[in-house]
Amino acid sequence: MEKKPRTCFICGRNEHDVEFMIQGVKGAICENCIQDTYKMYYEEFSKSTKPQNNNDFKVLKPKEMKAFLDQYVIGQEDAKKILSVAVYNHYKRLKSNLIEPIADDEDDVEIEKANIIVVGETGTGKTLLAKTIARMLNLPFTIADATALTQAGYVGEDVEAILSRLYQAADFNKEMAEKGIVFIDEIDKIARKGDNPSITRDVSGEGVQQALLKLLEGSVINVPPEGGRKHPHQKFIEIDTTNILFICGGAFDGLDKIIGRRLNTRAIGYNLKDKDKIQKINLFKYVIPQDIKTFGLIPEIVGRLPVLSYLDPLEKEALKRILTEPKNAIIKQYVKLFKIDGIKLEFEPDVMDLIVDKAIDYKVGARGLRSLCEAIMNDAMFEMKSDKDNKLIITKKYALERLKHKDNLSVA
Ligand code: ADP
Repeated sequence: MEKKPRTCFICGRNEHDVEFMIQGVKGAICENCIQDTYKMYYEEFSKSTKPQNNNDFKVLKPKEMKAFLDQYVIGQEDAKKILSVAVYNHYKRLKSNLIEPIADDEDDVEIEKANIIVVGETGTGKTLLAKTIARMLNLPFTIADATALTQAGYVGEDVEAILSRLYQAADFNKEMAEKGIVFIDEIDKIARKGDNPSITRDVSGEGVQQALLKLLEGSVINVPPEGGRKHPHQKFIEIDTTNILFICGGAFDGLDKIIGRRLNTRAIGYNLKDKDKIQKINLFKYVIPQDIKTFGLIPEIVGRLPVLSYLDPLEKEALKRILTEPKNAIIKQYVKLFKIDGIKLEFEPDVMDLIVDKAIDYKVGARGLRSLCEAIMNDAMFEMKSDKDNKLIITKKYALERLKHKDNLSVA
């Protein structure tokens, strides 16, 4: 006897009329009804989520946070520790804020918001750290480039646009956006140029800092939900930035000299050997808020970024580890790409040395690793050929030839 076709228990459609059906214990449901019910569920819950239901985001202990960061970020031990503690405190404060008042009647202690500033050369992992923190907490996250910002009324991006993007990243859920994380890159580029602040108020510098201050200190800001000025008729929504965590990063070119000068003045009376030692190591390690002020950020901004951390420049060993160790390391990605085509990809160990040496030569740090790998791997990915054991071994000789080709191209 021919089997009776299944029907969707919601809409009654026959299984031959749909592409996909899920069989449950008592009946089947078709793809159309799955989509419709999901949409209804999503709309219902994303709108009605109230703050008190909404604070069950993951808050790991600092040690657990550090362990999570270790999977993605190589080295940078101090920064990972400092950031783990700061983020933990921030969200502990946020949770207690939503469940019970944070002000203690007896001693009136209020845990203040602790935004973060990280100094370190480009390509050492500032953005990666901020991104990984957001991923770890499963909170909305956005990156803003401070160089694109202008004070209101000038051509460029208003600071409000940052919050529009965060709101979009939160799937237009205001409560979630108000707990999100914003990474502001290149904060050093809006520093006041020169030591005399009173001569002019430069558009790109102090004006933007003042505008940013509004976000950092926690206030309610009118935000165009769709962002930009393209939709002049859109209704504004109010976003309270009190609980948004801001992580600012910058390369702060020249900051090491400021730190060095401060340390040397203090170091008068010490012998020269010690002075030399300080010079050789990463001076960013000794950064204090005063240095950031001297660099040209206004004191109010520095005051709103109380957690100060630094990143180490990436040495050869760290770069080699970056290539192979993180969960989504570049080399692991190539191996996977070839595996999809049934090819076992291997690299001779000295290929890693070659890539890292080139990255150091080109002074591009970790940022250059991917493009160097691409240059080596492009032809191989085009051919997708293996030997008879379904293996492809990238030798140093092969890698050198590919890179030579790249060098020739860049000279031309
Ligand atoms: P920054 O923001 O400091 O300029 P990024 O975080 O954007 O640098 O780093 C650029 C890329 O280099 C990252 O996407 C990542 O692949 C790699 N990278 C940089 N630093 C590290 C690190 N410490 N550990 C692992 N990968 C890193």
